[in-house]
Amino acid sequence: MAANWKMYKSIAEARAFVAEFRKLGPMGGVTVAICPPAIALEAVRSGLEGSGIIAGAQNAYFENEGAFTGEISVKQAREAGAGCVIIGHSERRRIFGEKDELLNLKLNACIREKLPPIFCIGETLEERESGKTEEVLLRQLCKGLDGIGADSMGGFVIAYEPVWAIGTGKNATPEQAQEAHAFVRKVLEKQKGAAAAAGTPILYGGSVKPENIDSLMKGPDLDGALVGGASLKAESFAAIVRGAAKARGV
Ligand code: PEP
Repeated sequence: MAANWKMYKSIAEARAFVAEFRKLGPMGGVTVAICPPAIALEAVRSGLEGSGIIAGAQNAYFENEGAFTGEISVKQAREAGAGCVIIGHSERRRIFGEKDELLNLKLNACIREKLPPIFCIGETLEERESGKTEEVLLRQLCKGLDGIGADSMGGFVIAYEPVWAIGTGKNATPEQAQEAHAFVRKVLEKQKGAAAAAGTPILYGGSVKPENIDSLMKGPDLDGALVGGASLKAESFAAIVRGAAKARGV
């Protein structure tokens, strides 16, 4: 279960969240990651020490260093204490023009630097309504994972995030989510083999809340969630994590 705080929270607010979240107690047998803005990564990392919860980055560049003003490399994110990094979030694709080919370079940098990526894919409303969901997911997976062997996929996480469900309050139905996840699993199996497909967690993202996590997690191919807005409050994110743990009996 991963929290994506996007460009929200000061360093002080990030610290306060972590302190409150930890007080809310054990979250069941669930792997939890919190991805704050880069400036708060150290505050979140140190605040989470000893909790087993991972601090993550929201984005990183593929070159290790160089004249790339405003960027942070995968290597730097790892050195700053990130235990994972979100790659290819739809806001990065749409607002910052990140293309599949660039995301492939970033994923390869994650392999090189041994920093597990949460690789985001998903269709727009227009693509869904014109029956292109599977075509889009297939393209994003093929191009994003091009040349990456099954043996390099250890630690990889895929996040299926339909763009029309992100930040809109309109989540995919459990049936829509399961259908897309099953398709992603099938593509992974075809491209990378059965073991990689079974061993790659597929998260759902898009307006996840404490009220809908239970029904979403009923889908057998849903392994967790990437949560934006509802992860900004400690109680709400804790309720989502607990809800997922309960739905899966862990
Ligand atoms: C996200 O930012 O990845 C996301 C899923 O946002 P939200 O939960 O707010 O829809």
